[in-house]
Amino acid sequence: MNKLIVTKFGGSSLSNDIQFKKVKDIILKDKNRQYIVVSAPGKAFEGDYKVTDLLYKCYSCTNNKDLFENYFNMIEKKYISICENLKIDIDIKKLLSEIRNNFFNGASKDYILSRGEYLNGLIFAKFINFKFIDPAEIIKFRENGTLDKNMTKILISKKLSHITEAIIPGFYGSTKDGSIKTFPRGGSDITGSIISSVMNASLYENWTDVSGVLLANPHIIDNPKVIKYMTYSEIKQLSHMGAEVLNEDSIAPVKKKGIPISIKNTNRPYDIGTIISDNLDNEDNENIIAGISAKRNYSIITLSKSYTSKNDLNIIFSIFDDYNINIEYLSFDYDSVSLIVPDLILNTCEGYFINGIKTRIDPTSICIKHDISLVGIVIRDVNKYNDILYTSLKNLSYQNIDIEIIIQSSSSYKSNIILGIKDFNSSRAIKSLYKSINNINSNSNINTKYKTVNINF
Ligand code: ASP
Repeated sequence: MNKLIVTKFGGSSLSNDIQFKKVKDIILKDKNRQYIVVSAPGKAFEGDYKVTDLLYKCYSCTNNKDLFENYFNMIEKKYISICENLKIDIDIKKLLSEIRNNFFNGASKDYILSRGEYLNGLIFAKFINFKFIDPAEIIKFRENGTLDKNMTKILISKKLSHITEAIIPGFYGSTKDGSIKTFPRGGSDITGSIISSVMNASLYENWTDVSGVLLANPHIIDNPKVIKYMTYSEIKQLSHMGAEVLNEDSIAPVKKKGIPISIKNTNRPYDIGTIISDNLDNEDNENIIAGISAKRNYSIITLSKSYTSKNDLNIIFSIFDDYNINIEYLSFDYDSVSLIVPDLILNTCEGYFINGIKTRIDPTSICIKHDISLVGIVIRDVNKYNDILYTSLKNLSYQNIDIEIIIQSSSSYKSNIILGIKDFNSSRAIKSLYKSINNINSNSNINTKYKTVNINF
């Protein structure tokens, strides 16, 4: 059986020389850890910056020399101290100076943002003495920015078929003409998942700075429980709802091949962490939910019109399309439609957008509520749905936390509740939900209450 493990280390795992040593030890403990995907250095201490954020800042202020130098010096310092402290034989100053020149020679934003991973990969490969592979050679994008899956598969298989140990920077690839193209932020997870899938890994390890997927954000809840086992669908929902542990686009490639994902803590490597798979004998029946997470800065747009027709809905969708506004959730009834969209995008075009709606739909009113957090509860034990909803709403109401909208999705095996709550209340809401839901006991009869018919495609 193929024992190959693809292992990805996030920015916090590789933020300085001390972290580099921990990562090297982890890799060398298991010879099956063959392909290692690395992020750019993350924050090494409270108040520090991630290298990718610094690169972004440099890119946006090339016409302000002082500011540029200030940020670029921070980047230089990080890499130089790693190389000097670990005595890595690499001309880091020369590499940095080439990148600095490229800032002023018209380098693209994606090229600039990718340099954090590129440099970290080069340095770490030297440190551990593995081969360095530039993902620009194996991860291919089309001109329109989408991943060219077929080409990527061919190139990865070809390149890695003769290489047993490699360091591969995450987050970027290139187009046909060689221009660098990045995934969305947090995209090193996607790189690791693609390589796992193409190489038919037995496991995709994702090392970070928490001991697995937590029931809630540890910055809000003290010592939240770790979820030992999760399904792909649960982690995707949680990631989509703002949990930062895994990029949601990284689930599909491994899910397709049934490759389990293991979330581990670089600073506590012996902690069990979380296993994500659909085929777990050892199901976690302790938890009635798979997590609570939240994302901020949304708006709820409610259009009122007596008898909202299908045609109205079509027009509404096309207006949102015209302004490139993503509809995150939608709920409608006989005489109103509510849509949840990201604040930022709406802010840039609110006036035009409202005019468009007025002239084409002629609603009786439009109400827009800004600064909304979407707080999601991913429910595992559907038998507890009513208890969870009842207890959550009751306790939020005790705390005077208003709920602006409730959206619910459900299937045979999961139910998610999404609550729209004012941004300033979102941490209080999470605390209240965490406490109240943990007080509901699970009967552990997961999935037995409803008879459902699944049509699988
Ligand atoms: N360094 C990139 C970011 O900060 C990609 C990654 O870490 O996955 O988003």
